[in-house]
Amino acid sequence: MHVDAIVIGAGQAGTPLAQRLATSGRSVLLVERSRVGGTCVNYGCTPTKTLVASARAAHVARSAGRLGVQSESVRVDFPAVIARKDAIVQRWREGLDRRLASAGDRLSVVSGHARFVGEREIDVSGAQYRGDVIIIDVGGRPVPPAVEGSASIPWLDNHRVMDLQQLPSHLVVLGGGYIGCEFAQMFRRFGSSVTIVQRGPHLLDREDPDVSEALEAVFRAEGIELLLGARVARAFPGRAGAVGVALEDGREIVGSHVLAAVGRRPNTDDLGCEAAGIHLDGKGFVAVDDHYRTSAAGVYAVGDVIGGPQFTHTSWDDHRILFDVIEGRAVRGRFGRVVPYVVFTDPQVAGVGLNEREARARGVRHEVAKLPFGNVARAIELDETAGTMKVLIDPDTERILGASLIGLEAGELVHVFAALMQAGATARAIVDVECAHPTFAEGLQSLVMTLPRFALR
Ligand SMILES: Cc1cc2nc3c(=O)[nH]c(=O)nc-3n(C[C@H](O)[C@H](O)[C@H](O)COP(=O)(O)OP(=O)(O)OC[C@H]3O[C@@H](n4cnc5c(N)ncnc54)[C@H](O)[C@@H]3O)c2cc1C
Repeated sequence: MHVDAIVIGAGQAGTPLAQRLATSGRSVLLVERSRVGGTCVNYGCTPTKTLVASARAAHVARSAGRLGVQSESVRVDFPAVIARKDAIVQRWREGLDRRLASAGDRLSVVSGHARFVGEREIDVSGAQYRGDVIIIDVGGRPVPPAVEGSASIPWLDNHRVMDLQQLPSHLVVLGGGYIGCEFAQMFRRFGSSVTIVQRGPHLLDREDPDVSEALEAVFRAEGIELLLGARVARAFPGRAGAVGVALEDGREIVGSHVLAAVGRRPNTDDLGCEAAGIHLDGKGFVAVDDHYRTSAAGVYAVGDVIGGPQFTHTSWDDHRILFDVIEGRAVRGRFGRVVPYVVFTDPQVAGVGLNEREARARGVRHEVAKLPFGNVARAIELDETAGTMKVLIDPDTERILGASLIGLEAGELVHVFAALMQAGATARAIVDVECAHPTFAEGLQSLVMTLPRFALR
């Protein structure tokens, strides 16, 4: 069968691309081997943020005494929490199904695993399809931990943890990146004992150390055990269904469940790229240029599989740029974009552009403003004072180079800086704007005004 365009993977770029290409008059085949919506909707953003919301509700109820409100006993109904998560995931999936259906007969959705068998030719369950254009949006999957004995215990990953029907009594989380941190705090708030084993010296080790330390202080205060700078040597089954890991320093941690959040790998090992002349980089990501062109003519790749920032919003933005490329009206490329990110712990950790460590490593001249989150009036009024805020500016142009925030709703606040950066505005814009009082955003103005050049005189 021959079509105008084939899209492999119904993820965050593939789904809207398939629908828009079909709506614009092309015959399109969308191939998905699992569930429409990909990682984000089924095993990533949507379910985790839904669960984080339930976990925060439990935390707020338990700690309401600090605001003078007594709540006697707080009980988490885990099956109800899971049912709510499942219902929201289902709702998102149905929305995507409706979106795909809206494209009409020009779009065919095929269920199965796609593999390249030639130049712009794929095989799905024994059927061959050719496309003038092929778009790869196959994403990635969790990496299993590479330690001795790993086959001897049942690991949880971000897929399997979603299927738990009972709360773990003691969850051991391997990995202190954003996925590990979000699950760790969520399960602790649901009532599990939680231990995080993190190889590096800090949680979220791409952040500046003071940002990570602020999160570590919150986690410790909530009773999460942090084993930092700890390397797992071995995994072993414990008694009565328990599971354990032994560290290189000899310590052993035995829990009811182990969640591995130690990284993700691209889904290219079973895609047959070599048959189509599609080059991969050393880590298996599809190599693409500024306009998502692979080494094979007419074949493009988008989303997590190209190894850039691995976020839903990046994948979705990839789809916008690539659609314009295919339509022949490209005005932007993928390089040089302003890409904010958020870690949905509580408080949230958010960033955009350069942090202090990256600026130093790259020799970028900068001035840095810092302000504890607890200096913000709104934070004191809400008793949500944990965190810190930092912004870097170019000393010559006063343009914003980047921001690192940890604090309540930092994920919303970071967009103030992202928008200023996108607009090419200087930090003076936030100094001069009239901020409503009392808001967290007002704190961003106070932050920038800690720089002597913007101080009141
Ligand atoms: C636990 C967790 C939490 C996350 N939270 C956030 C968050 O809060 N915010 C955020 O921005 N990002 C978050 N992410 C990342 C986000 O989910 C991904 O960046 C996003 O889903 C990438 O979209 P994609 O389209 O590139 O790939 P995916 O969404 O992974 O889609 C790829 C699709 O391709 C299919 N596929 C793979 N191989 C084949 C094949 N050969 N044939 C047919 N189909 C195939 C897969 O089944 C999948 O459906 C999270 C990820 C995880 C794991």
